[in-house]
Amino acid sequence: MSELTRLREFLNELIPSEDQFQRLYQNFCAQIRKGLGAKTNKDADTKCYLTYVQDFPHGNETGKYLALDLGGSRFRVLLVTLKGDRDAELVAKIYDLTEKELLGTGTQLFDYIAKCLHEFVCEQKVEGEHMALGFTFSFPCVQTGLSRATLVRWTKGFNCSDTVGEDVGVMLKSAITRRTGLKIDMVAILNDTTGTQMSCAHRNPACNIGLIVGTGCNACYTEKVENCERLDTKYKDRPKIIINVEWGAFGEKGGLDHLLTDYDKIVDKNSLNAGTQIYEKMVAGMYMGELVRLITLRAVNENLIFAQCKLRKQITDILTKKPNCIETKVLSDIANDKGDDWPMVKDVFKDIFHLHDADPDDCMKFKYICDVVAKRAGNMLGVTLGALVNKVGESFSIIGVDGTVYRCHPNFDGYMRETLDRFVEKDRKYDIMLSEDGSGRGAALVAAVVHREYIERKS
Ligand code: BGC
Ligand code: MG
Repeated sequence: MSELTRLREFLNELIPSEDQFQRLYQNFCAQIRKGLGAKTNKDADTKCYLTYVQDFPHGNETGKYLALDLGGSRFRVLLVTLKGDRDAELVAKIYDLTEKELLGTGTQLFDYIAKCLHEFVCEQKVEGEHMALGFTFSFPCVQTGLSRATLVRWTKGFNCSDTVGEDVGVMLKSAITRRTGLKIDMVAILNDTTGTQMSCAHRNPACNIGLIVGTGCNACYTEKVENCERLDTKYKDRPKIIINVEWGAFGEKGGLDHLLTDYDKIVDKNSLNAGTQIYEKMVAGMYMGELVRLITLRAVNENLIFAQCKLRKQITDILTKKPNCIETKVLSDIANDKGDDWPMVKDVFKDIFHLHDADPDDCMKFKYICDVVAKRAGNMLGVTLGALVNKVGESFSIIGVDGTVYRCHPNFDGYMRETLDRFVEKDRKYDIMLSEDGSGRGAALVAAVVHREYIERKS
């Protein structure tokens, strides 16, 4: 048997069969049903959080809004001007997050956020203006209204103390008052998926699903209020509401067991939040590079790659001793590499392994490993997205998407469509739309829509 055939066989457990995709679809749909039900919600891993976003952009929204975007690898403050013609103008500034913010106390984190906000409004010379602020906070929260959100758990690289169980809106407001004395109205807290859906709906009202495939992964969709048993009747005068699925948590009750490999189990075990966010760990940017590291390490040990390489020992050492030495960005960078030359793979080998004369066969094999991991993620996401398209039940759905993995990986969109095409019911159509800054523009839109709703209800 050729080495490549042996490698293919070795990777086979990462290539789900049609039957495994079918089970994924069924298990996921069952979790969504549980999540929506009042009595069953406690047993669901996809909690289907109510967002209280029930009004959608008309396109004519105007005004200046502030937005905060916390939850990915960078923290951002934005000034968004809605221009009334489905258009918006954004000024954004990125602020670094260090371990002190990611792993310190909640108060430290929110003080830092307030400090950055203060600096930003002064730089933009808008500190005297009384502005509404939308807070994109991309973690699972129980909301009891648009501006009240209790943190359920941290995910991704965040793990601040004294925050779980607290209202992050209250924490933000008190930090702003304590640190700045600024007059800012925090009118909405939203998930990045919701922001993405809203920003795409701003440009095309057919957008009824929001997806993030970035550091973390999650989706939201528009649900009919009659299907939301947990929603108080006073919110049922509007026909629809956005549901934040929090599908990153899918799999915690066993719904993905038939797809989990040893690699997935090790990634979970080594993470900040072992036992949780199982689906996220198979598909999101924070983890895919790590999967590639673990797979490559085992493949080296089984003589399936770098078997003849003189730096084999050094490569094994690096792969063993340096968790996260392979970033998910690598999967995107080398996805288009071809031929006898493999320039991108060679760069990666130089960077990570200090290997300067890579064998073309090893390049091809490493790229194959990366492709298998990315394809599995894209294909799985297509299946669960298909479930949401069917759940929404419209004849045409637009999926608004954001996130570095989706944006940067040249084949990711295609991988998602492969399974979407198979799982979306025959009488429905879908399209995928890249969001233009969902977290910023979306937060401003929610703030604007809240304002409109307030005026409408008053009159
Ligand atoms: C969070 C979600 C978020 C997603 C993408 C996940 O870890 O739980 O709330 O939407 O990451 O940022
Ligand atoms: Mg983001």
